[in-house]
Amino acid sequence: MKAARNIRIRGVVQGIGFRPYVFRLAKQWGLNGWVRNGESGVEIHVEGESSGVDAFIEEITARPPALAQITDLRVEHAAIQEFSDFEIRESMRHDRPTVHIPADLAVCPACMSELFSPTNRRYMYPYINCTECGPRYTVIEALPYDRPYTTMKAWPMCSDCGAEYHEPTDRRFHAQPIACSKCGPHYYMRWQGGEMRGEDWKVIERTANLLREGRILAIKGLGGYHLACDAENGQAVQTLRERKRRGAKPFAVMAKDLETARQLVELSPQEERLLISPASPIVLARARRLLPGVAPDNRDLGVMLPYTPLHHLLFYFGAPPVLVMTSANRSSEPIVYTDEDAVKALQGLADAWLIGERPIARRVDDSVVRVSAYGPMVFRRARGYAPLPVTRLPTDRSILALGSDLKNTITLVVNGQAVVSQHLGDLTRYEAYTAFEQTVRDLLSMYDVPLEKTIVVYDLHPDYRSAQFARELDTAERVGIQHHRAHVASVLAERAALDKRVIGVALDGTGFGDDGAIWGGEIFVGSAAEGLERCGHLRYAVLPGGDAAARVPLQALAGFFSDVPELATDVGSQLALPERYFTALKLIKKGLRTFATTSVGRLFDATAALLGFTEAISFEGQAAIWLEHLASTASLEKVYPFPWDGRELDYRPLMQAMVEDRLNGRDVAGIARSFHRSIAEGIFRSVMSLGETYGIDTVVLSGGVFQNFLLLSDLKELFADSVMDVWIGRLIPPNDGGISIGQAALVAAMHRYD
Ligand SMILES: [Zn+2]
Ligand SMILES: [Zn+2]
Ligand SMILES: [Zn+2]
Repeated sequence: MKAARNIRIRGVVQGIGFRPYVFRLAKQWGLNGWVRNGESGVEIHVEGESSGVDAFIEEITARPPALAQITDLRVEHAAIQEFSDFEIRESMRHDRPTVHIPADLAVCPACMSELFSPTNRRYMYPYINCTECGPRYTVIEALPYDRPYTTMKAWPMCSDCGAEYHEPTDRRFHAQPIACSKCGPHYYMRWQGGEMRGEDWKVIERTANLLREGRILAIKGLGGYHLACDAENGQAVQTLRERKRRGAKPFAVMAKDLETARQLVELSPQEERLLISPASPIVLARARRLLPGVAPDNRDLGVMLPYTPLHHLLFYFGAPPVLVMTSANRSSEPIVYTDEDAVKALQGLADAWLIGERPIARRVDDSVVRVSAYGPMVFRRARGYAPLPVTRLPTDRSILALGSDLKNTITLVVNGQAVVSQHLGDLTRYEAYTAFEQTVRDLLSMYDVPLEKTIVVYDLHPDYRSAQFARELDTAERVGIQHHRAHVASVLAERAALDKRVIGVALDGTGFGDDGAIWGGEIFVGSAAEGLERCGHLRYAVLPGGDAAARVPLQALAGFFSDVPELATDVGSQLALPERYFTALKLIKKGLRTFATTSVGRLFDATAALLGFTEAISFEGQAAIWLEHLASTASLEKVYPFPWDGRELDYRPLMQAMVEDRLNGRDVAGIARSFHRSIAEGIFRSVMSLGETYGIDTVVLSGGVFQNFLLLSDLKELFADSVMDVWIGRLIPPNDGGISIGQAALVAAMHRYD
């Protein structure tokens, strides 16, 4: 018996070889009809023997292509139209695009074997790619994803590439960035007053030689430029650090292959899988070897593997097996991505530039992932992940959520799909702010969303640039969302659990609270749908010095002693703390430039200062990371009191106990270890008590403090025997990179359809 069906598939189904896959499948079952890219995904009409049609649909559902993410598949009965063949039809562009923009992918095994096969016509060609690998988001200028709307439009295909591009059974059928050395872009080298062009491999070999000699190279990659040098050459690393004015912030490295990575860091099977995954992120893991100057005061190292054909060629031609690969910028400015900018901005930083001709449509940094006690967590969501869909939200309104000013991302909700941008960085930096504005324009225009009908969501902090930007947008509706509620909601959004009642614990450095204080140690009860009520918090401290309190742990320390001035002075003189500490105490006494805070991030800073971190920090979170690494060198001997009275977690007994131990000469690592456990126990007890009061069995942990590996391990141990389920962000960062999706989720819950 004959049958016909129309099938619509939504999700990540374009730019990954879905149509050739459907084509081959139809042929396999002897079916006729067509497949095409529509703006809401892939559309199929199929007809033939009904058993074949059923098998065809079952196969798509059960075994889609490896890179596809199907979010929705609908099958409708259709009339038999007596097609005589199965064909791949041209794309349609009619209504608003709802297809997802695919993320950039590491070079695939098939392309790798061609890259190194002397008889292949793409032998040694650094831009080799196919439908299963290569650039996507970084080359797309508009939707639908088609070559004329990519940065490859300047290179007409040669007849060989054209033949592959149009052949449905070919691996490069409609591979938009397809190219070869005959028709495609090339790499060349520049240095002060000179240039080298010629065969790609010669330029790459020269680059590898320079790296071996200890030079610093600016290398154009997928989403921007890297600065690279030999990670085992201490002098080269030192020079890079000085030129970049990097302070103590760790550099990530690229290891030649998995074997080399295994010698650098301890890797679990899960971490290895992440390293070799198509997203190919930086994986943070425990270092096995010390690379001088690469990650000072740090027991962890961020490692990634080569992910573009160019990287593989560099190592093939003898680049040092471990390279520092850091975003090409001066500190805190975002990664440089245009050639003109790279040459200008990196004057004096790089000794030479390896420039690829293919333009980058937008800057996208390397992603950073860490495997915690609760599984993999994405700390920086960018290349390989953004802008893949994170979740669906139950609303038909379009929502633009602008995130927080630190570690900014933005989220656009269109037709119920939540698209989270790549990590954009610290908006107080000019370049990051420019990237933020561009990304807002970019996503709105790619998804064809009219701003007048869009709800714009912003953080309540009155000084945030993202909030200022929201106020200036020409839109019908604006909603401010409290920072820590957004943290909790980000996890609920990812789990598609907006109605789930949870205890939400949000611990971080800074967020503007309902009462105008700086919050950062908050416990909520409720759901995204009904609202999150603040039911507990860290006891308020009074910190001196405005923004400086976040940069100078000593000032935070002074603040956490504000209730006990005698002890404060005593500690200062006995530990011979620098003058800055005593100045801070005076400010507090006079109530000058002080502010109230419940920030647990600052409590970590204060403890770091008490235990010896007395300088100013050179990057966000530095003191807390220092403290965590100090603590992980000691074993747990005791737990300090950190009482919960039903409303407040009181840090005073905790500080008092730590001071006593410190003055009695207890080993600082041991104190740091006890501090972590005490924080974990405080959280555990408060959560269990609220859980009992409200009859709730799930806790959400979010906020930058939960990037702490040791703290999460302690919490896992404590919650293991309890009735409480623990939820953390997985693809959504626990830090402020998760704020935008949380904001969007809370607003979607107010405007939901049923
Ligand atoms: Zn490939
Ligand atoms: Zn070609
Ligand atoms: Zn935050």
